[in-house]
Amino acid sequence: MEIFETIRDFNNEFSSKLYICPSCRKMTPNPYKCINCGMQATNLLFANETYTYKILETNTVQQIFKPIELEKGELNG
Ligand SMILES: [Zn+2]
Repeated sequence: MEIFETIRDFNNEFSSKLYICPSCRKMTPNPYKCINCGMQATNLLFANETYTYKILETNTVQQIFKPIELEKGELNG
């Protein structure tokens, strides 16, 4: 799980605000539910294809689709 001090830190890291749905592989601006196929990030079937992070400031844990910044990182090695 990734840890961020504040929500601002998270937004700086993933500034595009676009996420990849593991079901249809399309981009969605909604990190929790795909706008294309309706898949939800909390679906356990995709637990290993989603991204989980914690915000220390608010002490919240979120499970979302993978930000596209992470997909780009994987492509670039
Ligand atoms: Zn989808």
